[in-house]
Amino acid sequence: MVTANVIGSGPNGLAAAVTLAKAGVDVTVYERNATPGGGARSVEATLPGVLHDHCAGFHALSVNNAFFMDAELANFGLEWALPEIQYAHPLDYGHGAAAYRSVDQTSRLLHDPAWQTLFGPLARHFAKLSADVVQPMLQLPQSPIGFARFGLRAGLPANVLAKAFRTEQAKALFAGVAAHAFRPLHTLGSSAIGVTLLAAAHAVGWPVAKGGSQAIVDAMLKALVHHGGRVETGAHIDSLAELPAADIVMLNTGPRAAVDILGPAMPERVAAGLRRFRYGPAAATVSLAVEGGIPWTYEPARRAGTVHVGGSFAEIAVVEAQITKGKMPDNPYVLVGQQSAADPGRAHNNVHPIDAYAHVPSGYPHDATELIVRQLERFAPGVRERIVAQTSRTPADLEAENPNFVGGDIVSGANSMDQLLFRPRPSFNPYRLGPTGVYLCSASTPPGAGAHGMAGFNAARSALEDLQR
Ligand SMILES: Cc1cc2nc3c(=O)[nH]c(=O)nc-3n(C[C@H](O)[C@H](O)[C@H](O)COP(=O)(O)OP(=O)(O)OC[C@H]3O[C@@H](n4cnc5c(N)ncnc54)[C@H](O)[C@@H]3O)c2cc1C
Repeated sequence: MVTANVIGSGPNGLAAAVTLAKAGVDVTVYERNATPGGGARSVEATLPGVLHDHCAGFHALSVNNAFFMDAELANFGLEWALPEIQYAHPLDYGHGAAAYRSVDQTSRLLHDPAWQTLFGPLARHFAKLSADVVQPMLQLPQSPIGFARFGLRAGLPANVLAKAFRTEQAKALFAGVAAHAFRPLHTLGSSAIGVTLLAAAHAVGWPVAKGGSQAIVDAMLKALVHHGGRVETGAHIDSLAELPAADIVMLNTGPRAAVDILGPAMPERVAAGLRRFRYGPAAATVSLAVEGGIPWTYEPARRAGTVHVGGSFAEIAVVEAQITKGKMPDNPYVLVGQQSAADPGRAHNNVHPIDAYAHVPSGYPHDATELIVRQLERFAPGVRERIVAQTSRTPADLEAENPNFVGGDIVSGANSMDQLLFRPRPSFNPYRLGPTGVYLCSASTPPGAGAHGMAGFNAARSALEDLQR
C-alpha cells in the first residue's frame, strides 16, 4: 500500500490528507499542537457558550470548490450559513455601504452603476472563474475569456480601479475588500484578492460554517478517518528523519520551514527559491464577547457577517501603505467578524462573539485591543460598555501558536504581484520540493491564503499524478 506523511493539520494539510486517503493511500498526519485544524478551529475564547472562530471565519472560496465537492464534506456534517448582508462598511455620520448577494441591489443602493458593470459579469460566471483562480497561474485557464475579463480588473492597482466608481460609498466598500490582500492600494495587482472575494460575495455569498469553522475541521477529520487515515497531535516535526519512511510527504508549513525540515535532501536551486519567499504585514487580533452585539450607527452593518472598519478609501489607502513600511497608524484598518449574524447559535444569552483584527506592521509588538475598540467606537458609539469579556493576540502570539504565520502574517506570504502569480517560487509545479514524492501544500502555495483547502487538494493531486507516472 502507498503511504503518506502529512506534516501539519491546517485546512490544507487535512485537504491533502483526505484527498490522498480517498485515493487509497495510507495517510498519517502529524500536528505540533494539541488539537488539529490550524487556522480553521473554533474555541470559546471569551465566555462559556460564546463560540469564536480562532482564525478563519468566512469561507467564500470553499463553497462548491473542487476539494469540498470531491471530499463530500456535506456528508460528514458540514453546513453553510449566510448572513443577510455579506459585508458592510460604516462611514461617519451614520452613512455607509453594504454588499448584498444581489449585485443589482448592491449597485442600486450604492447609486453607482459601475459596481454592476464591473462585478456583474464576474459574479455571473463565478463558477468557471473560481475554478481558474484556485489553480497555479502557469496552467492554461479553463475559461480563457472569463479569466481575461477577471485579469483586466484584478491586475490593476486598487486606487486605479476605484476611479470607476462615482460615489464615495462604492469606493469605500471596494477599499474594505481590497484591503484583505494586506497590500498598499496603489500597487500593481492590489485589486486581485478584492475582486475575487467581491465576485464571490455576489455569486455564493460569504458563508460561515454552522457551529463554527471547527465544523469544517471536524468534517475533514471524519472524512479522513472514514478513508482509513489518522492524526497524531503533539508532534512537532523538525526533520524528515523523525518520521517513518513514506512514499509521499506533504508539508503544510511555510517555505523556509520546508527548507529546514528537508535539509540537504532539497536541491539547492529549490531551497534558494524558497529562501527568497517574502512575508507581508501582520494582524493583531481581539475576540470580544459583546452584549446585544455591536450597536453600529449605520444600521445595515448590524445585519452583516463581516464589517470593514477604516473609513473612506483615502483613509484606508494611507494606513495600508503605512503598515507595509513598518509604521503603526492610530486608526488602523480593522476587519470585524460577526458570525452570529449568520449563525445565531454562536451567541449565548444575547452575548455575541466578535472576532476582529487590525492590520499592523510585521512583528508589531503591542496589544492592539485599545486601537481596535477605538475604531469600533467611531462607528458604534457605546460598544465599549457592551464588552463583557475579551482576549487578544499580538503577531508574536499568532506565530507562537502557528509557525506558518511568520511575523504575524496571517496570509502566509506577501501578496506582491510576483508572489500572487508564482508562489512560493516560479515553477510549473509550485508544490514539488525536489525529492521524489515530497510536496509543499500550505497557503504559501497557490491559490494562497484561506481555509478553502485548495492548496492541499492541488498538491495531493500532483502527488497522485506523479505516482501514476
Ligand atoms: C485571525 C485570522 C483570521 C482569518 N480569517 C480568515 C477567513 O475569514 N477566511 C479564510 O479563508 N481564511 C482566513 N484566515 C487565513 C486562514 O486561517 C489560513 O490561510 C489557513 O488556515 C491556512 O491553512 P493551511 O492549512 O495552509 O495552514 P494553517 O492553518 O496555518 O495550519 C498549519 C498547521 O501546521 C502545523 N504545523 C506547522 N509546522 C509544523 C511542524 N513543523 N510540525 C507539525 N505541525 C506543524 C501548525 O500547528 C498548524 O496546525 C485567517 C487567519 C487568521 C489568523
